[in-house]
Amino acid sequence: MTADELVEALRAEGCRITIARRAVCAALAERPGAHLTAADLRSGAERLAKRSIDVSTVYRTIEVLERVGLIDHVHTGQGVTVVHTSERPHHHLSCRVCGAVIDVDADAVRGALEPVASAHGFAADSLHFALVGTCAACREAAV
Ligand SMILES: [Zn+2]
Ligand SMILES: [Zn+2]
Ligand SMILES: [Zn+2]
Repeated sequence: MTADELVEALRAEGCRITIARRAVCAALAERPGAHLTAADLRSGAERLAKRSIDVSTVYRTIEVLERVGLIDHVHTGQGVTVVHTSERPHHHLSCRVCGAVIDVDADAVRGALEPVASAHGFAADSLHFALVGTCAACREAAV
């Protein structure tokens, strides 16, 4: 996803395109596949725009891009919520030791969890929360 595509989506939602909003889009586009906090996006955007950007601008931009389905947020269980582009659905493993977020196949997770939920008539959003634990490298380091 390019910065221009993100900017166009904001424009289509009636947002005024400011230098700050454009910089937030560029900061998202330059890290494809990354899991970014609002603070990461803010510092990336500030570096690109060479000026300070209000954190509320970052949140507002995230909110609009999420509403139109271009990005998504995930709870990693580590006190921060990350956003990532939602072109390719995936689930996450979140390491509570080093903070790594590892992408895993979404279908396998859905296949395991959604039948359990639907037995209760519940429509599960199984990708919304990461599975929290300890990654292979941290387990090895602990031995
Ligand atoms: Zn949420
Ligand atoms: Zn992700
Ligand atoms: Zn780890």
